[in-house]
Order: sequence, then C-alpha cells, then structure tokens
Amino acid sequence: MITKVDIQEATGSIQLCAGPISGTETAVHTAQALYQQEKTEAILLIDASNAFNSLNRLVTLHNIRHLCPSLATVLTNTYRAPTKLFVDGSVLYSREGTTQGDPLAMPMYALATLPLIKELKSIENVKQVWYADDASSIGKIKGIHEWWKKLTTIGPRFGYSPNALKTWLVTKEEHLTTATTLFANEGVNITSEGRPYLGAALGKPEFVLSYVRNKVQSWCSIVDKLSTIAITQPHAAYAAFTHGLSNKWTYLLRTISGIGDLLEPLENDVRTKLIPTLTGQSSPNDDLRRLLSLPARLGGLAITNPMSIAEAEFTASTNITEPLQKAVIEQSMELPYEITESQIRTRKKIREQKRDECKLNADRLKQGLPAPLQRSMDLAQENGVSTWLTTLPIREFGFNLHKGAFLDALALRYNWQPARAPSDCACGKKFSVDHALSCPKGGFPSIRHNEIRDVTANLLSEICTDVCIEPHLQPINGEKIKGNIEDGARLDIAANGFWGGRFDRTYIDVRVFNPHAPSNRHSNCYRKHEMEKKRQYEQRVQEVEHASFTPLVLSASGGMANQATIFYKRLASSLAQKWEQPYSSTLYWLRTRITFSLLRSAIQCIRGSRSRCGHAARPNPPMDLAVSELHL
Ligand SMILES: [Zn+2]
Repeated sequence: MITKVDIQEATGSIQLCAGPISGTETAVHTAQALYQQEKTEAILLIDASNAFNSLNRLVTLHNIRHLCPSLATVLTNTYRAPTKLFVDGSVLYSREGTTQGDPLAMPMYALATLPLIKELKSIENVKQVWYADDASSIGKIKGIHEWWKKLTTIGPRFGYSPNALKTWLVTKEEHLTTATTLFANEGVNITSEGRPYLGAALGKPEFVLSYVRNKVQSWCSIVDKLSTIAITQPHAAYAAFTHGLSNKWTYLLRTISGIGDLLEPLENDVRTKLIPTLTGQSSPNDDLRRLLSLPARLGGLAITNPMSIAEAEFTASTNITEPLQKAVIEQSMELPYEITESQIRTRKKIREQKRDECKLNADRLKQGLPAPLQRSMDLAQENGVSTWLTTLPIREFGFNLHKGAFLDALALRYNWQPARAPSDCACGKKFSVDHALSCPKGGFPSIRHNEIRDVTANLLSEICTDVCIEPHLQPINGEKIKGNIEDGARLDIAANGFWGGRFDRTYIDVRVFNPHAPSNRHSNCYRKHEMEKKRQYEQRVQEVEHASFTPLVLSASGGMANQATIFYKRLASSLAQKWEQPYSSTLYWLRTRITFSLLRSAIQCIRGSRSRCGHAARPNPPMDLAVSELHL
C-alpha cells in the first residue's frame, strides 16, 4: 500500500496507467478537452510495436532504482535474470519486457516510460497524454512533428518503438494540408475525421456519433445472442449481462457525452428480447421496466436502462476525473496525494447520491404499483434476500439454478403465476403461490424446515461440540414452567459452545413461515413468530436444561428475524475465524447459502416433486475457493 502511493507520486500525472483513480477515463476526457481547445490543431495517436514485451529491462531496472526505490528491490529480484518460458518441452529465455500476468507489470511499465516522457516534455506547443503504451501528443502540428521525430529517435533506447503504419494523426479540417505536407515522409496515417481512442473516440462529432452507432450495433447483436443463450441458461445469461456486458456501455456512457438517445436500439433489444426470455414473461410495461432496472437489493434485477443513466454516468466520470485532468493539462510531473484524496471524496459522494436517488426512485415507483407487486418489493428489500441474484452462479457451491428453477425463482420474487402451473392443487384447493408455499400435502413445508435445520446444524458442527439434531428435552417433574410442558418434547438443534463457554449448551428451534399468507402480511410478523417460539420453550430450556434458547425464524423468501440475524452473524464470525477468512465474505456466503436453500425449497413447494434428491446437506466447499471464485 505504501508502494502504491510511492509509484503514483513517482509517475506523476502524464502517465496514467500506474493506478490513479479512473486513469483511462481521465486520459479520454483530457484528450477530448485538449482537442476541443481552439488553439489545438491536431492529435497524434501512437501505436507501439509489441510494447510491453520489448521494454529494455536493464535500463528500466536501473531507472527505477532512482525513480521509485521502494519498488526497485522486488522488480530487480524478479527481472534480474532472464525469465524461463516453457514451450512444448523446450525452454525460451525472456530477456526483455514484462512478464504476462505480473501484477507489477503496469507500474513497472509506467516507471519505465517516465524518463522518455520527461525528455519529450521539453518540446513546446505540445501536450502529452500517456496510458501505458498508448501515447498521444496534442497541440500545434509543428510541435507534434518535432515530438514524433524525437520519439522515434530516442524511444527505441527504452524499448519503445512507434509503428508508423498503425499511428494516426487526427487533425482539424483547416489544418489538414499543413499536416499532410509536414508528415509527408513519416508514413503516418492522417485523417481529419476522427479515430477511436482508448475505447472511446476523438475527432469530428459525426465521426464520434458513427463510432457510437457501430458500437451499439455490435452490442445489440451480443444482446441477441445472449437472449438465445437465455432460453436454455437464463441464470448464466443473467449473470453475464449484469456482471459483464452492461459494463461495456457504461464505460462508453462515461467517456462520451450526450449519447443516451443513440442507445435506444440497445434498450429496445434488452426490453423486447432479453428480459422476456430471462423472465418467461412478455415484454415489460414502463413501470415494470423501471422496477427491473433498480438494484437487486431494492427489489429490481439490476438490468439498467442505458438511455436513462447516460447523463448521470458522464457527469460522474467528469467530476471524479476533474482534478486529475487539470494536472495532466498542466503537464505536471507530480501527482500530489491531495488529488487522489479529493477524487476519493468525490467518488464516495457520488456513490451516496446515487444510492439515495435509487432509493427515492424505488419509493416513488412503489406507490404506483399494484398491491401484490408492492408486497414483492417489500420482501425483496429485506436484508440479504436478493443475494441469489447478485452472486455468480457457480455450480460447485450450489449457487446455480437450472432454467425452470430460475424462472420459478423470479415468479416467486414478483408474484407472477409460475409457467405451466396447475389450476388446482393435489389437495383439491385452488393453486396459487401462497397456497403452494403452505400446503402440507407432500410434506414440503416440513422439508423446507428440515433443510434449514440441517444446513445450520452442519455448519454448527464446524465450530461447536456435541451438535445434535432433534434433541429431547428432559421431562417436567413438577417444576412450574410456562409454555410447552409435554413429555418427549423435542427441539431442532442443540450444540455446545456456541454462546458462552465450551460446555454451555444452546437449544435452537427453526421456523420458516410463508410471507405470502394473509396472517403474515404485516411488518411485525417476524417478531410475532419469535415471541411464539420463546413463549413455548425459553423458560423450560433455561430452567430445566440450564441452557440458552435461540429461535431461528426465517421467511420462505429469505428474510430473517432479529434473533436469527444475530445468530447467523455469530456463526459467520466463528466460521471466519476457523477458516481464516474475512468475516464479511463469510457472512455473505452463509446468507447466500441459506437463501438458495430456501429458494430451492420454495420451488419444490410449487413444483411438488416428491423426491428429496439434491436436498441432502452438501459438504462445505473450501472457503478460500469460495471467496476467490465468487468475488465475495
Ligand atoms: Zn394444496
């Protein structure tokens, strides 16, 4: 961490790849701002041949000793001797450049180009913007020409060889003739239209617009493909969309202003193709579309509408990068930590604003929704209920749903009629989601209860001794006890050493209730169920067993009552200690696991398969694997 600050301070603000906040976005914004200045005549976009691999190691290591001593030792140890590359049984020695996959490659590259940048800085009427090997110079054409000459002369000494054939000079229309004359013998491509730059575009507005249109077209075809995949793999397609694809256009929205309307074809595809296949419903109306665009924790599916976020994303990006842009425009070789600090503050503020705005939108939207959908939103907003949507669907951890289960899970979330559901239940009553979650026929509610009991007991056995399922309580011999005093009464789990010392015993009783049942449709229902359990057992457990009692009350949609929340937090904390993992990731994993158990049980209630196959307690996968693979 100390080194990160050192590297940033050493590289300054012209080379933006060494870890300043939003480096690429800053490069794009700065280049665009400079190009729009009246006095600017052109911008030269360099392509360097094989840049990372041809870095001169000896020179680099020598320079880094002076530029950033705190990084020098580790890099010297890594790169002093040639790196071995194994190719088909023979060994190649890599003597130059950085090694692929080395996390220090970027900072090393940034530091390596620094002396080159410094030497080029002496040229007048030109400003440089660097992002790793993507170098550019902006200003008067004469200055740019001088800069290019010097770069091609001294660059190769550092292992930086510009490739003229792939290098582009973008000039303003009125300077095209000057540019063509001056660069006549350089072999560089010249245009007055525009060019792509770091995933965005520079040049005439028409060029930028057509660049965006092309991008939108290519994304539309990806969304189409994803919609086809969603027919058989909706869960995977959903994760690919929310975790990956949608970030692509967010970047473009952040770097080019005023393009929201151009994304209409994309939004149309999302709305009329992707969402219907993902949800198994028809294309959503305006209200439902807005609901689905909310974050999962607010009841949505995080399928944002690119048109409606365009302006906010661009403003956010400009505000975050502003102080750094200034430093680049001043061509400062320093990057004071105050700049980074102010960027961090701005970013935090923007996040908070965004969160507040989302909440406000959600509240406003909710008021106009039909009552059942309002109830769905309330349930989906309960703590931890929506983790099944935000977690990567990895089969190994049991976090993936097959196509039918994914559609059913969404039907449960939004109170939609599940596809191909029978009109009547096997018990003879009319079928509905509410009825299915409570109907005792087939014993599904008790399977759901037992699933939570078993998962919990299984995890308890990792940290407690003498864990047992369905422990008997001692008979009552005249003690004055309120609540359940039956002989042979049993609770769900008992374990030693959970609360208190090693021999302190805890009795646990589980209740999973149906949140859609009319009697449970009020905000106090968690408390009501908890109190009922306590009245029945707490006194008997405390006074006869000399143990503590914990009621575990959960809703079938994944919500938890107070005591259950505290219980699982404590469980996560002990597991985190045992597995040597961060508490927050362990808690997240634990809640996700419980949510998936409840979800599968709820789906079983609807679909009514009588087999218990697949519901046996699954062994706990190694926690470190879960943390890294699920990005917890
Ligand atoms: Zn029934």
